[in-house]
Amino acid sequence: MRTHILGFPSMGRQRELKQALESFWRGDTSAHDLTGTAHKLQEAHWGVQREAGLSYVTTGDFSLYDRMLDTSLMLGAVPARFAACGKDALTRYFALARGDASRNIPAMEMTKWFDTNYHYLVPEIEPDAVWTPGEHPVLEASKRATALGFTPKAAIIGPFTWLALAKGQNGADPWTRLDEVLATYAALLEQLGSLCSCIQIEEPILCTELLPAAAAERFTEAYAGLNAAVARAGSTSLLLATYFGPLTQHLPLAANSGCAALHIDLVRGPNQLDAVVAALPEHTALSLGLVNGRNIWKTDYAQAANFIKRAVSALGADRVLLASSCSLLHSPVDLAEETDLPGHIKNRMAFAVQKCAELADLKAIAQGQGADLLAANAALLAEAQAHADTVVTTVRERAAAVTPAMLARKSPRAARKEAQNWLRLPLLPTTTIGSFPQTDHIRKTRLAFKRGQMSQADYETAIKAEIAGCIKKQQELGLDVLVHGEAERNDMVEYFGQQLGGFCFTRNGWVQSYGSRCVKPPVIYGDVYRKAPMTVEWARYAQSLTQKPVKGMLTGPVTILCWSFVRDDLPRSEVCRQIALAIRDEVTDLEAAGIHIIQIDEAALREGMPLTAAEAAVYLQWAVDAFLLTSTGVEDRTQIHTHMCYSEFNAILPAIARMDADVISIESSRSGMELLDAFTRFHYEGEVGPGVYDIHSPRIPTADEMVHLLRLALKHIDKSQLWVNPDCGLKTRRWEEAYPALENMVAATLRVRVEL
Ligand code: GLN
Ligand code: ZN
Repeated sequence: MRTHILGFPSMGRQRELKQALESFWRGDTSAHDLTGTAHKLQEAHWGVQREAGLSYVTTGDFSLYDRMLDTSLMLGAVPARFAACGKDALTRYFALARGDASRNIPAMEMTKWFDTNYHYLVPEIEPDAVWTPGEHPVLEASKRATALGFTPKAAIIGPFTWLALAKGQNGADPWTRLDEVLATYAALLEQLGSLCSCIQIEEPILCTELLPAAAAERFTEAYAGLNAAVARAGSTSLLLATYFGPLTQHLPLAANSGCAALHIDLVRGPNQLDAVVAALPEHTALSLGLVNGRNIWKTDYAQAANFIKRAVSALGADRVLLASSCSLLHSPVDLAEETDLPGHIKNRMAFAVQKCAELADLKAIAQGQGADLLAANAALLAEAQAHADTVVTTVRERAAAVTPAMLARKSPRAARKEAQNWLRLPLLPTTTIGSFPQTDHIRKTRLAFKRGQMSQADYETAIKAEIAGCIKKQQELGLDVLVHGEAERNDMVEYFGQQLGGFCFTRNGWVQSYGSRCVKPPVIYGDVYRKAPMTVEWARYAQSLTQKPVKGMLTGPVTILCWSFVRDDLPRSEVCRQIALAIRDEVTDLEAAGIHIIQIDEAALREGMPLTAAEAAVYLQWAVDAFLLTSTGVEDRTQIHTHMCYSEFNAILPAIARMDADVISIESSRSGMELLDAFTRFHYEGEVGPGVYDIHSPRIPTADEMVHLLRLALKHIDKSQLWVNPDCGLKTRRWEEAYPALENMVAATLRVRVEL
């Protein structure tokens, strides 16, 4: 029985790759230094896999920036604007990834990798572009691994996934390039064939509904060609890897691809095993994705052993491989680095290094030598459940007692609008999304307090001074609805996680988000509850300084869930409901403290959406319910806002409408208000604040530009529904940028108001 992982995180235990990349970009180190670090990291990762006793070490999983970009370069699909970037391969590579500021060439677009928090560089297909294939880093890595005595399994992203995720420019259809793409892949496979006995070709697109029908029709013939190329190369074979969902619609294609083995994700698709086994042709091997590549929790060995038993009894042990569900890219590196976690939580955890060892355990168990491992695992998981802060009876009782009435405002939207007239807001009210510039002084204050170098009292005085300064500037600017500015918040999720029961934080649990950027998500390990009010005093103080309404600022339950590592012993919907109840209390406390406009940010609602329509529908049902549970405990006269920083709403407008927020602010300056069209066609009845300028850019927009955008917006939406605000929070901007931009925004609003 063979064992393997689909990939190991590139970053390193101490984020060595991040440091190496950033010092190279600064010009402090050479290309030689960077390559040296990259090689050392790969060798260390192969060492972990060999030490764990896995049958293969994976190559081609490591990338200096992104594997989709590596694939694009292998195919030669380089957009024409980079022609000026010179011949040096590394310079060109990073120009594609990050843009070339000196030549004013924008980077390739980045977007989320399926429903993960990892971002890849989107292939751009230009009409009639001539592609010159380049070398894929997997070749050199596989040679190096072999030379070092490892047994490599090469991992590459498959042609159908690459094409399905590509974007055609100026009307180009990526699929017209299929034959050319397949020819380059065949050449790569022939070269790899002499280096590796197994090649993992990844087609997660088969678990989605994103593969066009015409492309699906060509899959079987295409894979026959790729398998023929592999056969020419010798004794190697292809393992077709699917992940991030069950195989449903495309199961026949995956099962009959002609590849020697098929990998399935049993974490995201636990119910697919029987259907897959039944569909699998004779001799085809099955790789079982048992160890979750996307979380930090130990595998339930009994459950995994049951899957293995079923597969082995149907296929025989020789035809079964044990594997991670997907690449371990999405989990942190090594639990051994965590020295501060409480024992009962750490005992339940497994990071990438530990996940490799789990596969060896599962193999021992499958071979009947692991009774003690099985028992120890069961005892650990049971112990965790018995711990008083994993299951909190009062939280469970309250969550079970949620009634439909708790998911609805007292009155419908129109009546609420009347009731909110007392706020005396002008037409086209101006506001901001919440955060104001996080100055060095603010950061230093928070850090000093965190390190114990500043007393609680001094810290409160310092933050209050920031709030007062922020309110004063907003008054000067003449904004209508003010905010306290979020100076006390490091991050919109961490701030709440640190104050809620059921959360803990790792020291080193970093996960790559894109390029050299990593995130360290909070961990939800137990039942979530609010210990005390979290934002009320800051909001109350801010309101005490002004006659204008101050908008309270909270992060919504779905966003807190999506940006955390979530316990796997409770359905996500249940965890979300617990968070919702905690934030609901904060909402009603804010109202009681005299805060009558409350914004609940749901920046992650859309990205948390599963990949298939059926799963997405289930998700949107409980996700919107959680928002409703959070936001509906208030009187009609209190105005609920939400904010979402993206501009693709078509698929989720019904869900947005069901959220029943009085006001929603969205990103839209870059799309020229086009997205409002969708709101109009949908007859969206709520108030909308389409962002009138892009806060991601340091550029200060002129009043004229914003006048133009507001006039456009008024073509789509009635003046009684329109708000004026930037695209998102201002925390990454400097005051020198934020202040004049808002000055222009208010001036633009005044100019448009007189036209109404
Ligand atoms: N209130 C948050 C802020 O202004 C919202 C951030 C976000 O949506 N990403 O920073
Ligand atoms: Zn935003």
